[in-house]
Amino acid sequence: MEIKNITGSVPITYQFDVEQPCSFPFTPDAGTLKIKFTQPVEDDKLLRLWFEYEGNIGVTTWEVNRVTPGWVELGMYAPWFPYSPELKQFCYDVLVHIDHSYEVVGLGKVEKLGEGLWHISQKRPSVDMVVTASNRFCKLRSAESGLEVELDYVDVAKWVVEDVFKKGLQVSKWYSEWFGVASSGDMRIVITPRTEGGGYTRTGFVVLPHIDAEAYTGQEIRYFSNLAHECAHLWWANAPVNSWEDWLNESFAEYSALMAVRELFGTAHFESILAKKLECSEGMPTIRGVERDDEKAFTVLYDKGCLVLYGLERMVGKETFLKLLKQTTTQKVSSTEEFLQLVAAEVGSGVATQLDRMLTN
Ligand SMILES: [Zn+2]
Repeated sequence: MEIKNITGSVPITYQFDVEQPCSFPFTPDAGTLKIKFTQPVEDDKLLRLWFEYEGNIGVTTWEVNRVTPGWVELGMYAPWFPYSPELKQFCYDVLVHIDHSYEVVGLGKVEKLGEGLWHISQKRPSVDMVVTASNRFCKLRSAESGLEVELDYVDVAKWVVEDVFKKGLQVSKWYSEWFGVASSGDMRIVITPRTEGGGYTRTGFVVLPHIDAEAYTGQEIRYFSNLAHECAHLWWANAPVNSWEDWLNESFAEYSALMAVRELFGTAHFESILAKKLECSEGMPTIRGVERDDEKAFTVLYDKGCLVLYGLERMVGKETFLKLLKQTTTQKVSSTEEFLQLVAAEVGSGVATQLDRMLTN
């Protein structure tokens, strides 16, 4: 991929640096683009920038983003994405020109404007623009507790899709009861045909890697907890993702998934997963301050963070714990300090101090 040209509605110059390491941990092969206004710009004036790229995207580092005949998926974590840490959440419109035989599914409202021409409009602020396309999309649609759920899939056995869909609805129902109304309104699940790269979630949009029917039968709990984790991000997505504060997203989503496992498969399975997490967490860095691009960050946030939340649940009891979680989502708590204050206010400063200690342990 190459930048051919960047122009603005006001005069600009730009410098594209691919020599220095990228400061955004999720796109190691991206470059830093510095845009300079060559004239003073008024504060409230709308500025437009046009980026012109050229080249083949192919399959990128994390294997999520790709443009291949069998599957198209574009979004953040690929160097083509004009990411800015200051941007936070944004709305967007995307026009997609693609071969006539392809259907487009994306984050936002998708409309077919004509043969091979699609429009995606995202009115809900999000951190990502996701565009997927396939010439073999199938879909299922239903509603649960006022939540509309749609499932789009490519190359998955019908019975597997129906089971995933049923479980997705069930999980959403539990989460709505436990954590209150999801801020993103409705839910769309996409099961992609790619086997690499894993899943991710954006406001109301869950993307999962390929599900193999044979593996699905043998690893029912693992598939369920992955789905439950991604669905949980409809509630857990308020904290910044590029620092250790991401534990407020990842550890909470992972523990929610564990709670759903406890509901569906029983306490023994819940405890055996926790025991494995305890084993993995041995000798790991502390949650507080862990670098997001540290190779141990996954274990710290997904395993160790779960143990902290389990510890909190044990300390205050299930009922109070759920109340705390509900308040955390409804107040859109986005920092650990806020969460500690909430815990102190609801169950006392002693518990908050202990929680803080677990984060620094
Ligand atoms: Zn997650």
